[in-house]
Amino acid sequence: MPPFEPSSSDTLAKVLRLELRQGCQDRSAQGGLAAFSLQWLGKAGLAQAQVARLVKEFEPYASLLPKAREALVRKALQALQDANAAPAKPAGPASIPGSGTPLRPRPLAALPGIGAKRAQALRSLGVEDQAGLLHYFPRAWEDRSHLKPVRELVQGEVATVVAVVRGASTFRARRGMAITEVAVQDSQGGTLQAMYFNQPWQQKRFKAGETVVLSGRVERKGLGLQMLNPEAEVLPPDEEPLVHTGRIVPLYPLARELSQRVVRAAVWQSLGLAGGVRDPLPEALREELGLAEYGASLRHIHFPADFAARDKARSRLAFDELFFIALGMGLRRARMALQPAPALGQDEPLSRALLAALPFTLTGAQQRVWGEIQADLALGKPMHRLIQGDVGCGKTLLAALALARACGLGWQAALMAPTEILAGQHLLTLRRILAPAGIEVRRLMQGQRAKERREVLDHMASGRPMVVVGTQALIQEGVSFGRLGLAVVDEQHRFGVAQRLKLAQKAAVKPHVLVMTATPIPRTLAMTVYGDLDVSVVDELPPGRKPVRTAWVRPAGRSQVWEQVRHELKAGRQAYVVYALVDDSDKLELKAATAQAERLQADIFPEFKVGLLHGRLKGEEKDAVMADFMAGRLQLLVSTTVIEVGVDVPNASVMVVEDADRFGLAQLHQLRGRVGRGAAQSLCYLVGDPKGAEGQARLEAMQESSDGFVIAERDLELRGPGEFLGLRQSGLPDLKLADLVHDRALLGQARERAQGLLAKDPMLARPEHEGLLKQVSARFEARLELGEVG
Ligand code: ADP
Ligand code: MG
Repeated sequence: MPPFEPSSSDTLAKVLRLELRQGCQDRSAQGGLAAFSLQWLGKAGLAQAQVARLVKEFEPYASLLPKAREALVRKALQALQDANAAPAKPAGPASIPGSGTPLRPRPLAALPGIGAKRAQALRSLGVEDQAGLLHYFPRAWEDRSHLKPVRELVQGEVATVVAVVRGASTFRARRGMAITEVAVQDSQGGTLQAMYFNQPWQQKRFKAGETVVLSGRVERKGLGLQMLNPEAEVLPPDEEPLVHTGRIVPLYPLARELSQRVVRAAVWQSLGLAGGVRDPLPEALREELGLAEYGASLRHIHFPADFAARDKARSRLAFDELFFIALGMGLRRARMALQPAPALGQDEPLSRALLAALPFTLTGAQQRVWGEIQADLALGKPMHRLIQGDVGCGKTLLAALALARACGLGWQAALMAPTEILAGQHLLTLRRILAPAGIEVRRLMQGQRAKERREVLDHMASGRPMVVVGTQALIQEGVSFGRLGLAVVDEQHRFGVAQRLKLAQKAAVKPHVLVMTATPIPRTLAMTVYGDLDVSVVDELPPGRKPVRTAWVRPAGRSQVWEQVRHELKAGRQAYVVYALVDDSDKLELKAATAQAERLQADIFPEFKVGLLHGRLKGEEKDAVMADFMAGRLQLLVSTTVIEVGVDVPNASVMVVEDADRFGLAQLHQLRGRVGRGAAQSLCYLVGDPKGAEGQARLEAMQESSDGFVIAERDLELRGPGEFLGLRQSGLPDLKLADLVHDRALLGQARERAQGLLAKDPMLARPEHEGLLKQVSARFEARLELGEVG
């Protein structure tokens, strides 16, 4: 420890700051802080009364607990700062750079410690420049602020110590591993060894006599203590705070070429920019909601003084994310409402005829939603409606009614499905119910014969009424409609917002858009992800449906499952057996499914016909297999998950899922939804032997409930919202900090504020909202167009 030269109040401040940095262990001054303060407080330019009070308070310093010590030291520092015209910088773990003059952003490669390679690595993480570093948020934080004397260290704990380097050496151990040993000693004489493996360059960082701060896990080694690969930092000059140790340090997501230290140092050097960033929120709003200031939040999210500061910063920045999504979605909705769309309000004969010809009546829920759709279609502005309803609730029929209405009034209509199999099935269903009304239903698909494709495209271009069914083939280049009045997107959860928009762009005039999903997502989430849509819920199943009886079976019980299946097949019903092909392109697993199908046919069900359906079949081959199964020419269908969505064969009453623990809950629920579509009691067997608790939880949830909402809530709990909602492909700006489950309150607040703002200024056209509009555009940029004004 260097001796302290008595010169001014600075000396006292220096010692006090050192004391803070050392965790208030009363080591900063020789002879103890009590004696030292007695000597120096009087000369520090404080008021006499204040001096007397402080001296008295410092008297028992040696016996105070660290927390009380810290409070006292801070109080003395504050007094010194108040007394002096030139305020001293706060030091120690609490200090943050960048509160002063803002810096100018520099290119990444120009930052110390970052060359071309690391700059490239940062760009791969989405960090484009120095300002981008400010928005590269930590994935976690580690508390290294509690300094401890070496003698008090406990085996196994993660701790931080301040000590002087005694020496460092590197030697080669067996198998050529380089081991660097650094011996250090702290001011109370405690010794410790820092060990680094295969990082010979570490040795150069440690110079004998220098004071370093080490953070790491403490291990016992013989009689001594060691830390393996500790984070180390040379104690900087007094005014400079520690970056990697001695504070709460940020941990970042990394890529090759990058280390925590490199990224942390780069962010640290960029904090100065935070002072110059304009707060994207209007000040009034920020103050009203008690949200932290923007620049401060950017600093504290990286280098918080304490966890309360980190939480406050996180809330503020998460609010921004949610608020601007709500604003963007609201803006899209407002802009779309300005565009003209075909008014399809008149009574027309086709949908009426369709309704009259149904062998059943609409459920109450279907009736209500059909009413909502009709009202939308009549308005002369584009409908943007989401139909949410559990598998089997009858969404396809609602789509068919809307398609019929569009055609009946002289427009074309399209239905986009996520898989060829589902598209093929919709084609058959729609033909069956629409053809009698004289509506032509065509299909556009990959690998279609050129002549047929030409015909369909010509019909589409002609503008004559028709319904076209297809997969993403519908939104490819070169596909366009002469007179598209309605676009339906089935199983929306499989598509992104961008694809939905692309389909709508295939027309000269904005068409109406109807999207359907069986993923029932909680209301608050729906309002965010589908914030630009009106939502209808079909919360009723057709009458007579019995919930599917579900059993989780261990592989050992498989033969009993086959007996149950045989029982159903004998009664004239049909069954699915699904194999968990993780990836259809995986040849080995495909081979396994093929072998299984052959084995089931030859050894187990020789008296029945077994078919095989998988993603590698050509479109027509798939259609042929499905047609055979629908017509009952096949009794048992072995399949990969290609049948997951939408397939509707009411006579199928058994579903067996092999390796069921490999599937997610939503997927299992969809698979199970293939049965229970007729009057017979249906069965679902989930065969699996999950190793982990999560896999078991999934199979248990499936056994316990057949309600899509219950399953979805459970799924959300188990997987978290990002995975659950497929947010990555949703086309929304990233949520880096906001968590749609835990931040529901914040989400509600953000939505409410965004709506309030848009109610007054739907286009954000007022000059005072220019900044907000810019923010929205920047955040949504390239992810989805906000809908140009027509
Ligand atoms: P999903 O909502 O999963 O897309 P579907 O549209 O495939 O459901 O409908 C499931 C089955 O229920 C179909 O066979 C369909 O004909 C039948 N269905 C639809 N509506 C009714 C109703 N109101 N009454 C009886 N059966 C219905
Ligand atoms: Mg469906």
